Amino acid sequence: MSISSPVVVVGGGIVGASIAHYLASMGQDGVVLLEKDSIGSGATGSSGALIRMHYTNPYDAALALKSLHIFENWKDTIGGDSGFRKTGFLAVADKSNAVRLQNNVEMLKDVGVNTTALSPGDIEDLQPFCNIDDLGAAAYEPDSGYADGYSTVTAMARRARDLGVSVRQGVSVFEILCENDKVIGVRTSDGDIFTPTVVLAAGAWSHHLGKTAGIQLPVGPQRLTAGLVERPEELKDPHMIFIDHAVGQYFRPDSNNLTLLGIRPGPSVDLQVDPNDYDASVAMEWQVRSLGQLAHRIPAMVDAGWRRSWAHVDGYPPDGHMVLGKEPDIEGMYVAAGMSGSGFKTGPAVGIGMAELILEGESRTVNIDPFRINRFQENEPIISENEYQISEFKFPG
Ligand SMILES: Cc1cc2nc3c(=O)[nH]c(=O)nc-3n(C[C@H](O)[C@H](O)[C@H](O)COP(=O)(O)OP(=O)(O)OC[C@H]3O[C@@H](n4cnc5c(N)ncnc54)[C@H](O)[C@@H]3O)c2cc1C
Repeated sequence: MSISSPVVVVGGGIVGASIAHYLASMGQDGVVLLEKDSIGSGATGSSGALIRMHYTNPYDAALALKSLHIFENWKDTIGGDSGFRKTGFLAVADKSNAVRLQNNVEMLKDVGVNTTALSPGDIEDLQPFCNIDDLGAAAYEPDSGYADGYSTVTAMARRARDLGVSVRQGVSVFEILCENDKVIGVRTSDGDIFTPTVVLAAGAWSHHLGKTAGIQLPVGPQRLTAGLVERPEELKDPHMIFIDHAVGQYFRPDSNNLTLLGIRPGPSVDLQVDPNDYDASVAMEWQVRSLGQLAHRIPAMVDAGWRRSWAHVDGYPPDGHMVLGKEPDIEGMYVAAGMSGSGFKTGPAVGIGMAELILEGESRTVNIDPFRINRFQENEPIISENEYQISEFKFPG
């Protein structure tokens, strides 16, 4: 079957669904969204889905802040339920990182983020069960929280469909078709689609698909792991979301008495994987270690019990920040990939920025220029002076 479309978006994660949705809501007819499996089956459905503004650069933070407003008004703007829960957020840092954290809080205030720097004593007042012995400071965001990756992306895709997007699941793109350095279509498992505009939003698979158009996207696939533990009775009330820069871990409450935690494998583990063939299980060694880190911060968690753990893949550029914009060498090709284990929360704003760029030639609402593909050739990667230095966590005792 051969059909044509003015814009084809490849990838039904939060990024592709959001771009397709905003293209349609800004008036573009005939958008096609192609997903090889089902909507949300990529990193998005496995995401920790933390929504916080605490970044070490203003560009990601501004996108996260714009997205927060969409999550806060989800019912009225997108419809359905994203699962957003406002819990409050703490980024905690050890003494060696305290000044960096305070500088980041000042930078974030300038972006418009509702955040304050706290002392260890303040942290204890907010979360009395927290071990503050090794902490020097924290950043507090009362408006932050978490959502549900799968509910969010399915609600976004449903809204896109209501606005006229053709959402096609179970359709794989095999090749991006180009002629004279111009996009002319995509070859799929369900036939060719002729189009002058392709948006590559295929997460960890983006590099591979880019190669079919002759481009080498600076986005490599990496594996990320997380798990759920059941809190002991004495911690049955939900805690806030923590990113613990002292030990290199994040955790957040989940439904009932569960806590979701990121699992950081040690430096000996090669994170680079083949997105079509990677180990989705998590070694016991890393589960034990991450529970040790959690119990270091909240000692009563020593009695927490494992429920389950999982791994998924995401795309990573060399500087660990997303790649957004026009592909400079191929007319009609746009890229929104390399979300670097942190692209759920910015997905709504990325959708707005990309849709404006495609339809109007530039993004007005949010600034996506710092994420342009050429930044590496231009020697302008996104690097912060106040990046946290995380030492390898040592088990107490
Ligand atoms: C364990 C874990 C925890 C995380 N925690 C957080 C967090 O707390 N906060 C946060 O903001 N981010 C978090 N992230 C990162 C975040 O989930 C991702 O950055 C984001 O979901 C990426 O969205 P995406 O749309 O770019 O990619 P994906 O969700 O991976 O979507 C890409 C889609 O493209 C499809 N596709 C690929 N190739 C093709 C093809 N050839 N044809 C058609 N379709 C194709 C795939 O099937 C996939 O569904 C986490 C990720 C993981 C794995």
